[in-house]
Amino acid sequence: MTDRFLDELRAIAGAAHVLTGADAAPFLADWRGRFTGSARAVVLPADTAGVAAVVRACAAHRVPLVPQGGRTGLVLGSVPDASGNAIVLSLRRLDRVRAVDVANRTLTVDAGCILHAVQQAALDAGMLFPLSLAAEGSCTIGGNLSTNAGGTAVLRYGNTRDLCLGLEVVTAQGEVWDGLRGLRKDNTGYDLRDLYIGAEGTLGVITGAVLKLFPLPKAALTALVALDAPAAALDLLALMDAECGPTLTGYELMSDVCLQLVAAHYPALPRPFRERHPQYALLELSSHESERHGVALLEAAIGKALEAGIARDAVVATSIAQSRGLWALREHIPLAQARAGKNIKHDISLPVSRMAEFIAGTDAALDAAYPGVQVVCFGHLGDGNLHYNVAPPPGVAHDDFLAQQEPVNRIVHDRVAACGGSISAEHGIGALKRDELPRYKAPVELALMRALKAALDPLGIMNPGKIL
Ligand code: FAD
Ligand code: ZN
Repeated sequence: MTDRFLDELRAIAGAAHVLTGADAAPFLADWRGRFTGSARAVVLPADTAGVAAVVRACAAHRVPLVPQGGRTGLVLGSVPDASGNAIVLSLRRLDRVRAVDVANRTLTVDAGCILHAVQQAALDAGMLFPLSLAAEGSCTIGGNLSTNAGGTAVLRYGNTRDLCLGLEVVTAQGEVWDGLRGLRKDNTGYDLRDLYIGAEGTLGVITGAVLKLFPLPKAALTALVALDAPAAALDLLALMDAECGPTLTGYELMSDVCLQLVAAHYPALPRPFRERHPQYALLELSSHESERHGVALLEAAIGKALEAGIARDAVVATSIAQSRGLWALREHIPLAQARAGKNIKHDISLPVSRMAEFIAGTDAALDAAYPGVQVVCFGHLGDGNLHYNVAPPPGVAHDDFLAQQEPVNRIVHDRVAACGGSISAEHGIGALKRDELPRYKAPVELALMRALKAALDPLGIMNPGKIL
């Protein structure tokens, strides 16, 4: 039976695109290198019809499947478990840009397109596809949609869900739903598109999408502002909102701990200030008028912040290279953390109004439980999203501290819940946070999710063990 199943996959995708043994290995480990699963095979069909045929074979043989894009997901969603029962269904060969419709401001792509290629296709049409994240060179739009990815432009343009008008999906029965509609209004019953977005491959396989395009700004300006505390970052956000309105397109927070870590592991990166400051806000403004207009707006707003005592110091990038240098500081935080050693990670969201209270209270609670513990806190402050990572106190080995994951999660996630927040802002649940979910979701919400899963995937073959 095993052989007959693999023979069917070979007939669908071609023998060269059904990988086993050592050939399959690169598809089985998660991006952080913390877990390696096992699979019967990795199959890479060429197109939507091939994906549908693979899913039908899986349904007929009751073989679970794990949809996989760029495998940059951070919650063990795109790798199989250790049982070796599942196959990995990689979308990498579905990488065509299908259509550009400038008048409708839409782009239609295969789900396996790398995000960077999607951004480039938009630029080639003189438009902007604003989704932007550090993994954009290897993550796929299908993975972005399936995790409802966020990134650094959510403040102005929303999450991936907000950037999608239509989907093509292979259902768990192996049928193709063509929902590739480029409509901004379509109230014709239940919103199936929004059900598959963020479902982490547990309901069906996304094979294509219609994405929204936006006018290209004439100029993008970047500034780094030094601050006393997270509360000042919130005051600055309110001031920037009031002064700059929708031209404010990015607002990131990083602490001194983060920048020290980056300086230690990437000494060639810029050090914008001579002195150290407790916190920093990285701002981006996009002007649709001109560079001069953007600079004037930014400098006037920062001037007000300095005058009001909200900001301690500030640098405004005067060239593209300088702007890239400031963003590089932000983007290298997770990489510097990886070099420093494993730590306990949280991707949380909170009402913006409660962020300062959350950071102060949680820092104190962790320090009481683990004196000297190092909190590496940064994130998309404008969206209420923090990457709140906990590294061991001095003298404790990183690997040993990982054993504290459960009690550390309890401190952090209980405080998130108490502040009205969410235990996953943008990375999803996957297998990593699955057992946390029942603690923080109401039973009625979980029951509705299970009912949807049972209705759409009655055989339970779509990415089992993830989310639920
Ligand atoms: P994968 O990892 O392959 O899959 C992710 C999930 O989606 C899995 O559950 C998988 O089964 C499912 N899936 C994949 N493709 C499909 C499909 N076609 N149909 C159905 N299900 C599918 N995330 C953010 O939100 N914001 C960030 O700023 C951010 N920064 C990151 C920075 C780095 C350096 C890294 C490594 C990751 C970052 N991430 C971020 C997380 C990750 O990049 C995103 O979640 C991304 O959207 C995943 O895309 P992928 O193609 O790699 O998906
Ligand atoms: Zn992020």
